[in-house]
Amino acid sequence: MLKFLPILLAVLYGVAMYHFSARRTRRDLDARSTELADPGLRRLTDRLAQALDLPRIRVNVYEVDAVNGLAAPDGRIFITRGFYQKYRAGEVSGEELISVIAHELGHVALGHSRRRMIDFSGQNALRTALGMVLGRIIPGIGYYLAGLLTSLLAARLSRGDEYEADAYAAALLTKAGIGTAPQKSLFAKLESWTAGRGGTTPAWLLSHPKTDERVAAIEALESRWKLS
Ligand SMILES: [Zn+2]
Repeated sequence: MLKFLPILLAVLYGVAMYHFSARRTRRDLDARSTELADPGLRRLTDRLAQALDLPRIRVNVYEVDAVNGLAAPDGRIFITRGFYQKYRAGEVSGEELISVIAHELGHVALGHSRRRMIDFSGQNALRTALGMVLGRIIPGIGYYLAGLLTSLLAARLSRGDEYEADAYAAALLTKAGIGTAPQKSLFAKLESWTAGRGGTTPAWLLSHPKTDERVAAIEALESRWKLS
């Protein structure tokens, strides 16, 4: 029994850390966000709502400078102040910004957001817990192995989710009459900002698969839709 105590402690520690981290993220989102109130964007979100048979889609602005969009585990959609500024400055069109909202809606509709929280908050917890266990079994490389396993698992989980959210967004944007062109042109813009400013990669790109592969996946969908 005593032999398993360290493993039990490690698992408990991992669970506690996950809850703590998830709660902190939620509190930060609550404290630092307001509802998006932009008439131009509202017209576009209303078109998405209509395509989904919903009365409206509520979008929140999260007060951080990073260019990012996110779906909270409770289903709320956020875009960052940094992303909204890009739209206000004319660097991103309303349709392009809406394509991010459609993608995040996909994460919510397909039930990814809970798992994504595990990605962000739980990765460290899992790494620590697994490291404590493996470190005991294989001294020396146990911790390293735990890190490797955790990253592999997270990348696996999120990669599939991203393609699914892109496909959902492509279908929704098509149904709403906006089309997939802004989805693809936004990818190109995000890439060019990375290249142009000495490598400040927008946060939204960092957590997603390679741009050219995402565009190719959307185009494959479109050619399939044209055939049917
Ligand atoms: Zn995503």
